[in-house]
Amino acid sequence: MIKKKFSYFIFLCLTAFLAILPQLYVSYSIKQSKFLLLLLLLLVIFGLIGRVIFVIAIFLLDITSIFIVHTYLHWGGYDGNIEPRLAVAYISPSYETFEYLQTYINIYDLSILVYLFVSFVITLFIFRFHIKIPLVVKGMAIVLAILIIGKIKHREPVKIIDELINVIHRNQLTIDRVEQQEKQYDVPIVGRGKKKVYDDIVIIFGESVNRGFLSLYGYHKETTPFMNAIRENLNYLNAIAPTNQTELSIPIYLVNARLDHFDKDYVYNPSLIKTYNDAGYRTLWLSNQGSAGKHDDKIRAIAQESNSTTFFNEGKEYYAAKTDNVFLNYFQTHPLSDIRSVYFLHLIGSHFDYKKRYTKNIALNPNAEGIAEEYENSIYYTDQVLERIFKYFMVRNKKVLIIYLSDHGEVVSEQKHGHGFAPSYKNEYEVPFIIYSSIPNKRLQKIKDHYSNVPLNLENFKNYVEYLSYMRDDINISNRSNVISLTPDNVIDYTKLKRIGCDEKIY
Ligand SMILES: [Zn+2]
Repeated sequence: MIKKKFSYFIFLCLTAFLAILPQLYVSYSIKQSKFLLLLLLLLVIFGLIGRVIFVIAIFLLDITSIFIVHTYLHWGGYDGNIEPRLAVAYISPSYETFEYLQTYINIYDLSILVYLFVSFVITLFIFRFHIKIPLVVKGMAIVLAILIIGKIKHREPVKIIDELINVIHRNQLTIDRVEQQEKQYDVPIVGRGKKKVYDDIVIIFGESVNRGFLSLYGYHKETTPFMNAIRENLNYLNAIAPTNQTELSIPIYLVNARLDHFDKDYVYNPSLIKTYNDAGYRTLWLSNQGSAGKHDDKIRAIAQESNSTTFFNEGKEYYAAKTDNVFLNYFQTHPLSDIRSVYFLHLIGSHFDYKKRYTKNIALNPNAEGIAEEYENSIYYTDQVLERIFKYFMVRNKKVLIIYLSDHGEVVSEQKHGHGFAPSYKNEYEVPFIIYSSIPNKRLQKIKDHYSNVPLNLENFKNYVEYLSYMRDDINISNRSNVISLTPDNVIDYTKLKRIGCDEKIY
């Protein structure tokens, strides 16, 4: 009997170890590893309480291992914080999930699935043991289990379910914003009574544009011939995006949300659109991004504050987006109006998959090979789109202010590409910030004087635009290096990040 009990105990230890091994293997933080050993002890204690509870615990642990190991395999560095990754997966439209599976599931993921399956089957052999655990031992085990759970409930993988609930809760923000802004619709904030210095203001949000790939900023290939040709008239600054996620950066640009108060500011802050509504401009939102889906809801909730919204990709997801040529078709059929207007253009730009973002007849590398060449083509194509947009507005001596920036940067190399990495890379934040004014504007020089060598943080983009267009007189320059990595509760220092996939040159 003693021998039987001993082999049962050994069985518990071995199967619990098999289950925890993948997470132990990928953990690079000593703290997380120590915690996992505590979890191992807890599992064994569960086995002393009952066989069913042991099997359920192992099963739940295996589920979390799938996510955690996957995160490690593709983004590296698991330190016990998978929550941002869950958030990104949850808010991605279903199409992206599918494309995600195609792009990021590989043989290693399948191997881990097989491993977990086999080790779980072994665990089921627990039911072949027929032993009776004395009540005293059970009682002590329960007390010990409660003590350990109290210690580890705030750490992954135990808290993953809790994290998922938080992620779902955050989506409620969009609904809250619409309600709140309707309530304060009649309260003028910035623009009321301001002189309209410009006839038209055009704000162009690019997508996934790493400024290091623009020849305007020094890239060795001629990716931006149009912008190079008018470079004398452009003010192009080194800027960093405040986040590496579209769904956060565009709202931050539009409502000036503070990074560490994103949720609250997103709901309560009036938008840049409202500034121009109050000033008496006609406001138009034109977008080639998705109009629906969890990923786009936060942006659309703000976009619909403009007088008219046009989604070229209405009711569809990213995969269906045509190239940004759709803007040119729109302008061809909509002659420039005499009504003073502010245009917000949201391009699909260089959104992955890069080769879907250009046509072969307008390509720097017509037979592009590899990720970098495809990405260069997307930048080159956008340059042509910008040329047509600029030329549409640069007529009839109109007083025009045109601003081009990107929601975030992009990692572009043959080993890795995309954005939303954890830990993040510098490349994900380095964006173009290009300003054109058809009339002399002294305030442009003021911005340049203020920002000097340190990149301008676009967290205060709303202020910069209001200042440049004479909607407000205070300049609120940010040279902070604080940026969000994936989710607002994860504010990090940009200067401490690594750059990947290109030389250390800063453009
Ligand atoms: Zn984006």
